Amino acid sequence: MIEFDKLTVPTEGEKIEIEGDKLKIPDFPIIPCIEGDGIGPDIMRAARGVWDSAVEKAYKGKKKIVWFDIYAGDSANAKYGEVLPQDTFKAIEHFIVAIKGPLTTPVAGGYRSLNVTLRQTLNLYACVRPVKYFKGVPSPVKHPEKMDVMIFRENTEDVYAGIEWPQGSEITLELIHYLNKKYNLNIREDSGIGIKPISITGTKRLVRKAIKYALEHGRKSVTLDHKGNIMKYTEGAFRDWGYELAKEEFSDKTVTEAELWDKYEGKVPDGKIVIKDRIADSMFQQILTRTDEYDVIATPNLNGDYLSDACAAQVGGLGMAPGGNIGDFIALFEATHGTAPKYANQDKVNPSSLILSGVMMLEYLGWDKAGNLINDALGKTIMQKRVTYDLHRLMEGATKLKTSEFGTAIIENMG
Ligand code: NAP
Repeated sequence: MIEFDKLTVPTEGEKIEIEGDKLKIPDFPIIPCIEGDGIGPDIMRAARGVWDSAVEKAYKGKKKIVWFDIYAGDSANAKYGEVLPQDTFKAIEHFIVAIKGPLTTPVAGGYRSLNVTLRQTLNLYACVRPVKYFKGVPSPVKHPEKMDVMIFRENTEDVYAGIEWPQGSEITLELIHYLNKKYNLNIREDSGIGIKPISITGTKRLVRKAIKYALEHGRKSVTLDHKGNIMKYTEGAFRDWGYELAKEEFSDKTVTEAELWDKYEGKVPDGKIVIKDRIADSMFQQILTRTDEYDVIATPNLNGDYLSDACAAQVGGLGMAPGGNIGDFIALFEATHGTAPKYANQDKVNPSSLILSGVMMLEYLGWDKAGNLINDALGKTIMQKRVTYDLHRLMEGATKLKTSEFGTAIIENMG
């Protein structure tokens, strides 16, 4: 039996197990849950009500999530005197599937991002973000319904690896002097220094996940999004290794965009998906102007961060965008927005991002029936124009609901 410093494992429920290359999901899985900072408690309260009701409605008591509260951020600081205690890593690693609200990250100084630390320590190498339109949600574009992408963003490398040193520090000056002298460079003395590693390992496992997803879900293409014209040996290599992986492991099921025209007159052969690539800046334009030509997207960390928010903006903003950080088995689902501290404890903000992250989690457990109930009921609630402040300010004739009321409206709409 696993033991924790300050946590007590629920007495009911069972642990999710790894069997071969699959997860074995018990009917009453124990799922660790981090409430989060700022608006975290408000949205988590509403979301848990929605998830529990959907599971109850779908499985009539035969399945149920057993929640296990664990701590990070402010709540951990109050309980442990540190923002990310060992208990939290241990619980997620042991119970395999977990969910979290947003956590504060201090800008310029203070501690490192807790989200980044969790992703890197638990080796959650793919940040998976589906971006899809819910009918009725106000959007700044003419055809938001054309957006239906699944973004696989690399989660452990790139400038997010956290390898950087401040301007003027001993190591920075040492590095600058060494590089300038040895390689005849001209880095300014008053620079800060950061390192951007992108590896074959990190790239191939991400692209493998993206291609597998595309094949299993009947998607049409996987686009490698990179800035390889400028950063040739990191981003350019990401593109090359992505194509290489497709050829090595999926040659019978994939065709490159170049081959499509050279060999197949532009018509995709039955049962194959297209592997293509785009340069990151042009991708921002393409996703706006030729939205429906993009399907599954695999991208290094920083591009993925920008691109997923830009895609989310087209379908109603971050309040509606879900996400999950997924490794070989361990998965940590999370709202994609931050802690919005000015709205903390006002029961005001939109809990949809977290609710939909929970839908991703239910699908990861294979509990699609409960996930579908939530998707349908959320869509219905928006069509009834019963929405939180963020959508209300953009909709004509809508009724403004609190976070908790919006959760209740979704539950009512499950029928
Ligand atoms: P933010 O918390 O995402 O909030 C920015 C704005 O987005 C809010 O002021 C609000 O816009 C809107 N918004 C965010 N969540 C919303 C929701 N659920 N419903 C409706 N509107 C929502 O970004 P931030 O202010 O840049 O960051 C605050 C803190 O969160 C920082 O410490 C940051 O590091 C952290 N953060 C954490 C995560 C994470 O845990 N995964 C992600 C991003 C940021 P209006 O003011 O226009 O209403």
